[in-house]
Amino acid sequence: MRNKFSLVLVMVFLLSLLPSYTLAGPLVRIGIFNGKDSVAVGGQRAFSLVDATDGSIIARGQHNEKLRIEYRDGQLYINNRLQKTPFFVRLDPGEESEFLTVEGRRYRGELEIRPSVTKKGLTVIEILPLEEYLYGVIPWEISPAWPVEAVKAQAVAARTYALYNAGKHAKDGFDLCNTTECQVYGGREAEDPRGNWGVDATRGMVATYKNKLIPTYFHSSSGGYTENIENVWSGKNDYIRAVPDFDQHSPYFHWELTLSKDEIGKRLAGAGYKIGSLQGIKLSPLKSGVNEAVDRGVSGRVKTIVFLGSEQNVILTGNDARRLFQLNSTLFDVELSEPGKDNKAAQTLVPDNKQTTVNLTKPAKESPAQTPRGTEKKKKRKRPATTANTEQGPTFVAGSAISPAAAAKRDSTQNQASSLTPGVHVLSQDSPNAVIIFAGHGSGHGLGLSQWGAKAMAEQGPKDDHTYYQQILKHYYQGVDITKWY
Ligand SMILES: [Zn+2]
Repeated sequence: MRNKFSLVLVMVFLLSLLPSYTLAGPLVRIGIFNGKDSVAVGGQRAFSLVDATDGSIIARGQHNEKLRIEYRDGQLYINNRLQKTPFFVRLDPGEESEFLTVEGRRYRGELEIRPSVTKKGLTVIEILPLEEYLYGVIPWEISPAWPVEAVKAQAVAARTYALYNAGKHAKDGFDLCNTTECQVYGGREAEDPRGNWGVDATRGMVATYKNKLIPTYFHSSSGGYTENIENVWSGKNDYIRAVPDFDQHSPYFHWELTLSKDEIGKRLAGAGYKIGSLQGIKLSPLKSGVNEAVDRGVSGRVKTIVFLGSEQNVILTGNDARRLFQLNSTLFDVELSEPGKDNKAAQTLVPDNKQTTVNLTKPAKESPAQTPRGTEKKKKRKRPATTANTEQGPTFVAGSAISPAAAAKRDSTQNQASSLTPGVHVLSQDSPNAVIIFAGHGSGHGLGLSQWGAKAMAEQGPKDDHTYYQQILKHYYQGVDITKWY
């Protein structure tokens, strides 16, 4: 009898190894913890710990009992008893509405616990249907109280994103982690019935381009215009393209951040860019609508920005500037303000007459790697691209760039080209109290679906069209099909 029972467990175990499609749709393996010293695992009813190598039951837990799983010197311990193999944690059969718990949080799926491959500590993986995983994702991304078509559009984007990225953490034995690096997932605790409804209403629906799943990037608010992927990250595709957005009611539509000149210098130095004293900033003025300047993307997102220093100048990518100064987005303009000065004069933007001194048309090779959300921590950052001040000539020394003599030297060609070349914001020489105002729009990378824009579209869309979420998705992902994947 006991043998028969074990055999069944072995078969269940073997089935659980397949990246299987069950009646509930495909299963996903979510990394709940990776590299943790110990976790408390429990169940809202009795549960079993099952050896992952032979399917035998190695421990039992009673209703609301907690077992302490520890990692010490490369080994697993269950309540201080050595456990030599990875194992599953499974609820005993019973009512559906009861859950396993990890560190006090409830999870719908079963758990697999093993030593981490890439980190020191243990890995806790939850195995559950993709559709149920999405329940725990949606409320982290948007308010489930938003119009249903917007919630449905978010559900399709999150589903497609998960399928596209499944296996990203294969080395550690799971598909996706539960942080922003993949998609934030909060388990049963995070769920909201309205979010679950949006998932159920779009069950199995995904966005594809030429019958292939696409990376459905989404963000909070674009600031009026989304961006072509190649202007934000490396790589190019035909569906993440710049389109007008409808996020004017987003709380992030306008934002401002003011930093002192010294703070800018400090943060640059902290990141290895020793420019000396900040003398000016070179950046084309931001236009609303389509931008054409070489240092900006279509939406106006900053591709490159030059900080002019007393010792050297540095070119940063928009993404690096965003990270360094903790800006909401790369869609921003800069203004200079100097207390006690005529700030209008200080803020005057002059077309750059010395375009050749810093070549902004080919910065990509030298500039720090631009990496998609999530991978940036793993990749080693290259040395920043810096240009020695000696190459710059005296033009960027405070004030001289806006001298009448310099202005007079501009020939007509340069004047015509001025909208395509970066302007220079110059600080006066004696401006210790100068501040730099970053005035920007939107929040997030500006690629693909804009959540605040989707909300506005859903609010203004036809009330009786229950497929309108597809129109929303087709706006933010150009040329895609919304199809049933399973
Ligand atoms: Zn991840």
